[in-house]
Amino acid sequence: MDFIKTAIEQATSSIRAYFYIFSNNSIFVRETSKDLVSIPYFEKTMIEQLKLKGVCFFGTYKNIPCYCAKITPGNLSEPLPDILSDKYKFINLRSLFGKIDPIFWSIAGYARQIFDWNINFQFCGKCGNPTTRKTDEHARQCEKCNLTFYPRISPAIITAVIKNKQILLARGINFPDKKMFSVLAGFVEPGETLEECVKREIFEEVGIIVKNIQYFGSQSWPFPDSLMIGFIAEHEKGKISIDTQEIVEAHWFEADNLPAIPGKQAIAGKLIEWFSLQNKHTYSAFDATK
Ligand SMILES: [Zn+2]
Repeated sequence: MDFIKTAIEQATSSIRAYFYIFSNNSIFVRETSKDLVSIPYFEKTMIEQLKLKGVCFFGTYKNIPCYCAKITPGNLSEPLPDILSDKYKFINLRSLFGKIDPIFWSIAGYARQIFDWNINFQFCGKCGNPTTRKTDEHARQCEKCNLTFYPRISPAIITAVIKNKQILLARGINFPDKKMFSVLAGFVEPGETLEECVKREIFEEVGIIVKNIQYFGSQSWPFPDSLMIGFIAEHEKGKISIDTQEIVEAHWFEADNLPAIPGKQAIAGKLIEWFSLQNKHTYSAFDATK
């Protein structure tokens, strides 16, 4: 494993480190060619020069320390420190995929979640006193009542509903891309199983009852702190009847007539790809028509 997650920072001779620097939804990167970027690899003295806030060590990559931090873009106004040329810029974290080695995309997602936790839990939610970061694990502890706050993970289901070689895809009200359709997703509520969540979400959003729920795979999704748990389910009964608070439109699509869909970096894209492959081959590991 080149990347090791740890909260324990060893005394090291390395004077340089990788910096995952965030500002709102963007990450600070160095342009290495027209379409490629890299994660800034600075001397640690840059923490002072760039006035980084919320600096948090979160692991090592090939024994090089990795930090996440926050910056106010105004702090980058001229004159830039000499090390920074015009090749440095902010890009949206989502758009990092495909522009960087997948391992750095993955680390950036982890960095973002550690960053959010470190910033968002500076005060105790129970008594309001400040928290301090523990040195032996990613946890913040209240100085007064000792309540401990770990990085938050919000489980969400995402489901491909299949009916007669068709897949149910919907356009959500909050999708950033207004033309895009995707499989249905929703957060798990306290007290319910993942399968119950699948049934509830599908019924609430499109009025359809599903059966034969099968696990597909999972994906950490750092926008902001989801663990996406993918399923495939079969239509049992009901016609599409959308919840207009969440869904603009929803339809059944065949594999050769798909609308704009998410890329394969997202588990949504992988689920739809799975459906497409199933319906272009005679072999079927999951025959939803039975
Ligand atoms: Zn407290």
